[in-house]
Amino acid sequence: MRREVCDEVRILQERFDGVIRRWIDGYAEGGGRVHCGRGCSACCSLTVNCTFTEAVRVADVISDLQAAAVAGHVARLRQLLPRARDLTGWLRLHRREAGYCPFLDHDGACGVYAVRPFSCRALLATRESRWCGADFSELSSEEKRGFVESLDRSVVAFPMHYVAATRDLGEELEQRAALTLMARFSFSLYGSFPILVHLEREHRLSDLLPRGADAVRHLLEREGLFHPFLAAIHD
Ligand code: SF4
Repeated sequence: MRREVCDEVRILQERFDGVIRRWIDGYAEGGGRVHCGRGCSACCSLTVNCTFTEAVRVADVISDLQAAAVAGHVARLRQLLPRARDLTGWLRLHRREAGYCPFLDHDGACGVYAVRPFSCRALLATRESRWCGADFSELSSEEKRGFVESLDRSVVAFPMHYVAATRDLGEELEQRAALTLMARFSFSLYGSFPILVHLEREHRLSDLLPRGADAVRHLLEREGLFHPFLAAIHD
């Protein structure tokens, strides 16, 4: 079972990569430019969510060193959580204080590139990297206006500079992965990427799936991670 659901996600991710490559090439032919590349990691300070199956694929391949970095990151998220009043506040707090994704290498490359989640694959920036990590609440109205006017509205998820088509397809594929879990276990699990990886790596969460949503909820509660900003069980 575990292998089957993971293989399904792997196939979807490989196909998605092909779609993304073709999209970037087509955009370049028309004079457009996607600024993402190796060593460019500004978006890796943002919150990353994924389906549980995507996290299992990552938990299966990381080193002990990476697992330790994930554990440290999860501890930081636990500490930050009580200070978040709402989702917007949580996302801002996360960007400012949680630090970069624990899978980011010292040279700024993704340490789990081949198995990274849909949401990382889907994020294509049509403007320079400084805009990916920017806190727009700190920009002047002139800067914001300049940014908005520079956007290629035919492709971006306005008012962001990320490509809408790949973002939407990434969300659709996440849904498919969630439906596979739902079909097998009558519930699905979605949430913070590092937290789900941590729960699989340290607590073998996948073994609890056949025991139902309550068993998963119990583990999340026991670990102090049962919170809508961190993980959601759909049953
Ligand atoms: S998984 Fe890789 S691409 Fe995604 S946020 Fe982490 S380091 Fe960045």
